[in-house]
Amino acid sequence: ERVEAGWNFDNSYARLPQLFATSTNPTPVDAPQLVILNEKLATSLGLSIEALQSEEGVAVFAGNSIPEDAQPLAQAYAGHQFGNFTMLGDGRAVLLGEHITPQGERLDIQLKGAGRTPYSRGGDGRASLGPMLREYIISEAMHGLGIPTTRSLAVVTTGETVIRESHLPGAILTRIATSHLRVGTFEYVLQWGNAEDIRVLAEYTLQRHYPAIEEGQDRYLHLLQEVIKRQAMLIAKWQLVGFIHGVMNTDNMAIGGETIDYGPCAFMDTFDPAQVFSSIDRQGRYAYGNQPNIGSWNLTRFAEALVPLLHEDQSEAVELAQDALAEYATLYYGHWIAGMRAKLGIFNEEEQDEVLIKDLLSLMHKHHVDYTNTFLALTFNTVEDTVLSGTPAFTAWNTLWQERLERQQESKDAAQELMRNSNPAVIARNHRVEEALAAAVDHGDYCVMEQLLGVLSNPYAHTPEQAIYATLPANSTLPYRTFC
Ligand code: AMP
Ligand code: MG
Ligand code: MG
Repeated sequence: ERVEAGWNFDNSYARLPQLFATSTNPTPVDAPQLVILNEKLATSLGLSIEALQSEEGVAVFAGNSIPEDAQPLAQAYAGHQFGNFTMLGDGRAVLLGEHITPQGERLDIQLKGAGRTPYSRGGDGRASLGPMLREYIISEAMHGLGIPTTRSLAVVTTGETVIRESHLPGAILTRIATSHLRVGTFEYVLQWGNAEDIRVLAEYTLQRHYPAIEEGQDRYLHLLQEVIKRQAMLIAKWQLVGFIHGVMNTDNMAIGGETIDYGPCAFMDTFDPAQVFSSIDRQGRYAYGNQPNIGSWNLTRFAEALVPLLHEDQSEAVELAQDALAEYATLYYGHWIAGMRAKLGIFNEEEQDEVLIKDLLSLMHKHHVDYTNTFLALTFNTVEDTVLSGTPAFTAWNTLWQERLERQQESKDAAQELMRNSNPAVIARNHRVEEALAAAVDHGDYCVMEQLLGVLSNPYAHTPEQAIYATLPANSTLPYRTFC
């Protein structure tokens, strides 16, 4: 007997005014094959693994079959790309609808690479296997690190070829998100809608992400403040693990505070605030050290869209928005310094902590050492194995740090425990990700990827297996480059 997959759609986005989206079916593909399924995630969504793996289940992931009660659409949005306002929209993604989990959570189910839509412009609407697997790995790594993110449920190959710089195997990723509302969604409605459309979008966002915000005049200001809070926290978490998003355009900033769009992202190895991996980010706009400021820039675009709702008097409204935006830096700094203290085993607060932290980062920069592994060496007392150990400046810093640890009530053991829980044993290192992708894409071997996903799922476990994954790649003369 056929088992039901358990899809349970209710499509609130499809009920929004016509301006917001266009009904669009995925374009069927030749020969879909499931290559990876996130079984844990599937189970937590109340879905049947057996049914998802069946021919009918795979047909859904491929866009060849639409589940009952799904209502496929492409979302309209705009965005500032590298600072320039552009009309965008889902050019290669189709939202099947919102799945309601057994716990009552409402989640977007989106097929990325599902074919052309009214927003495709010159694009083919398709995706290739390597980048979809890369998104799968890194988004799941972020989830393992406890960082809010969209998730990856499955990847299917299409049996078709996509043409990029060469002919590549086509694939579709099923992406899960608490929503795909972006700063760019608001920019789009500000540009093309009327005041009522903006209010409708703000109300929708409140219902979906901030249901606790009460009725009343201040609710849109509270929305702005909450979005600012979540972004400040998110970007601080990125900085703490050395994650470089790579394309922080406003269309890639999710209102719900999840990391979204894993095109050109990568984890930093050698500590350098100017680090950029993306091949198209030639000015370093989205460099590691710029991410917090770009967060603020993007939130300003969001605030501009809300200004019509904040106050009848628009100059008052602008002032309210500015006050809210001014909080961002403080909120960000609070999360960042708290996280850095934890990475150094520090429980209480002293004013000099910032200097201690920044001095360490300067040393890392100066001596070109690995960010993640330096914190691991401090955690496990193995700095003697690093190039820092021989330097007088590090010896002096280490003395100050040890004295700092003595000036708290907690024991050295407690400090180490805090450090273990704050410094990941493993991140999605570029060479490990590439190795997994090469095995999968070139040889159809998914074991390397499955193993990597395993160690990345619990990065604070500090298992012996993870220690193997902490090793750095052999020195390469070519810098690592990422693509959108
Ligand atoms: P991104 O840089 O990933 O944020 O994408 C920017 C825009 O390009 C979005 O509107 C995407 O939907 C669109 N896009 C990216 N790749 C394709 C493609 N192959 N076909 C059509 N649209 C695309
Ligand atoms: Mg995008
Ligand atoms: Mg992208």
